Amino acid sequence: MFFESAALLGHESIHQFHDPETGLKAIIAIHSTALGPAGGGCRRWHYASEAEALTDALRLSRGMTYKNAMAGLPMGGGKAVIMADPDNPPSDDLYLAFGRCVESLGGRYVTAEDVGVSVDNMRQVKQVTDYVAGLPPNGSSAGGDPSPWTADGVFLGLGAAAQHRLGSSSLDGLRIAVQGVGKVGYDLCRQLHAAGARLVICDVNQQNADRVQTDFAAQVVSPEQILFQDVDILVPCALGAVLDAQSIPQIKASIVAGAANNQLATVADGQLLRDRNILYVPDYVINGGGIISAALEYMGDKTTDDVRAQIALIPERLTEIFVTADQQQKPTNVVADTMAESIVAAGASS
Ligand code: NAD
Repeated sequence: MFFESAALLGHESIHQFHDPETGLKAIIAIHSTALGPAGGGCRRWHYASEAEALTDALRLSRGMTYKNAMAGLPMGGGKAVIMADPDNPPSDDLYLAFGRCVESLGGRYVTAEDVGVSVDNMRQVKQVTDYVAGLPPNGSSAGGDPSPWTADGVFLGLGAAAQHRLGSSSLDGLRIAVQGVGKVGYDLCRQLHAAGARLVICDVNQQNADRVQTDFAAQVVSPEQILFQDVDILVPCALGAVLDAQSIPQIKASIVAGAANNQLATVADGQLLRDRNILYVPDYVINGGGIISAALEYMGDKTTDDVRAQIALIPERLTEIFVTADQQQKPTNVVADTMAESIVAAGASS
């Protein structure tokens, strides 16, 4: 199964780890090191099967290759998944064991936090390996929780999308629906509210929804309704695969742009959005702010100003994708994939 999967998506290597003492079961997938060490977070999740965990690791690690390339980072793509045990809490030493796995790869993979993993977990990883980012910053040095940086990049990207599709980068007065107001969604809503946008939001976590309703005068709707609101922009900030053949025909927004990874259920769904004249903003380009922060932290000697400067490049990269997609009459996701692949190919041959 491993070799077949790796060949299918073009992975360099896939590593499986089991530590009986802590109960750690982890997969680290290295998709590409053409541009540098494979960078990508560690996700801890309850997977129904090993096959499901492997599929997630493979898809996410390939996505990191594309994301890092389009963010202009000297890093390849990788991802770790830890299989959570639903019957037992994690061992206190789980992330020491995971850190040893990362260390054993000798720097080919660099980890950070992702869904289900905290800054404190990464502190534990740091005790046994230096191949880690997402640690608390010192003073003005780059680092720390990537979520606010991701929100910054999405906010700037929304301006670029509005400029291209609606003729002005101003979000003042636009109606914007945000699906999921967790770490990224909350901070994004703060910025959108300050910019004068009118917010419609949802979250399966009532507390999170209430907070944004109170803080930013947002209208709350049910998770079942959020995708189909009569708004200018739809912003997925919760789950992947929300854009598919069922949902796309019912979307009323003319722009879809958010932080969630893997928003399109299939590559072909990009064409469905284009057919409906909906501007889809490729997720791995607009949500690159967090990895920019983590990568600059890992590189060392970088400050929050450096992170800010690199995130400020996201809008022009997006505009290049939009213009090329219009010229070539192709979906934006296909154009972005082609650009990312050519950056990686150039790195591989240099
Ligand atoms: P988070 O877990 O803090 O927030 C996600 C929110 O979505 C939570 O409040 C959760 O209750 C809500 N949610 C879950 N299922 C939902 C549903 N069906 N309908 C409505 N709400 C739902 O995660 P986050 O860090 O804010 O990340 C949000 C998304 O952005 C994820 O897809 C993540 O992979 C992606 N992303 C995050 C970062 C980052 O820096 N945190 C970077 C790149 C991409």
